[in-house]
Amino acid sequence: MSSSTLTVTSPLLPDLDDFNELLQDIWSRKWITNQGHYHELLEQALCEYLKVPFLSLFTNGTIPLITALQALDIKGEVITTPFSFVATTHSIWWNGIKPVFVDIDPANCGIDPDRIEEAITPKTTAVMPVHCYGKPCDTQRIQAIADRYGLKVIYDAAHAFGVEVNGKSILNEGDLSTLSFHATKVYNTVEGGALVCHSKEMKQKIDYLRNFGFEDEVTVVGPGINGKMDEMRAAYGLLNLRQVDDAIETRHQIALQYRKAFRGVPGIRFFDDMPGVRHNYSYFPIFVDAEQYGMTRDDLYAKLREHQILGRRYFYPLISRFSPYNSLSSASTEHLPVATRIADEVICLPIHHALSQKDVERVINVIISRNN
Ligand SMILES: *Cc1c(COP(=O)(O)O)cnc(C)c1O
Repeated sequence: MSSSTLTVTSPLLPDLDDFNELLQDIWSRKWITNQGHYHELLEQALCEYLKVPFLSLFTNGTIPLITALQALDIKGEVITTPFSFVATTHSIWWNGIKPVFVDIDPANCGIDPDRIEEAITPKTTAVMPVHCYGKPCDTQRIQAIADRYGLKVIYDAAHAFGVEVNGKSILNEGDLSTLSFHATKVYNTVEGGALVCHSKEMKQKIDYLRNFGFEDEVTVVGPGINGKMDEMRAAYGLLNLRQVDDAIETRHQIALQYRKAFRGVPGIRFFDDMPGVRHNYSYFPIFVDAEQYGMTRDDLYAKLREHQILGRRYFYPLISRFSPYNSLSSASTEHLPVATRIADEVICLPIHHALSQKDVERVINVIISRNN
């Protein structure tokens, strides 16, 4: 049996000859960053692919989170989830805003709408939920609460590239949505990201903020940052866009195999597809009930490693466990029972476009054979 190391994901790489050709063109244009030719083409192509009206490219998926809070002039307190990548809360902190953690719903691992209202104070100005694993949040209920209290909603949609509900992009929900195109995501531009908005005026504002706040050569409209994407990565991104549908379909087939193998295994829970949702299969989390399964999550994680399978405990530890957040009152374990339990149960299994049939079976065998 092969003992090559299996990782949770593998970067989707464009064809090297195609990329070389575009690099030649960039060299001949002598325009390598600042809204170049390929940058503009990629913004347009992504708007079409993702079915969104306006999108601004960024150099990674964290700067658009920080910029979104700036663009909406968010202050005071922002309600968010502890069950995410640490960048979600860091973006709030970097804006001098207090994050307020709310527990999650086990049905989708997103923020629990039933817990939002009790966390609202006179200082609350926004909610920042995450479509965790690309599973859509309950956007309707979140929006209803936001409307009732006059709050903005910024979705961290880093996992939700291409996710649609009833044929509509999830990225059109809320006031703004952010994406990450990091190498480990379903779609990548090496490093990269985007901010999706609903109006031309907002895109203009975001584009100023992305470029130091410059409106023109002599006018700075606000405390902008450098969040620009360069031509090399935009060209690379255009090429990857051609093959992302195939990559998602391969992930889908692997998800079907995992589900078939694990259904009926006591103590292993996983997600099925949600009705009406186009999923992107960006992650395949399983949740281990130690008592029923006969092994703890961490023992299974170690056993997978012995078999050269590198599962990832997304998301463990919870963001609320990290400094500087662990001293906040909303960070206490008693306040976050569901997130705390799920953080102790979860392992994300390898799922990506380049995973072979043999490797999928290797992962399945380790999980279903509990006694070796
Ligand atoms: C990857 C990720 C980010 C950060 O994106 P980068 O491109 O790595 O800066 C933010 N939020 C979530 C939920 C992520 O998974």
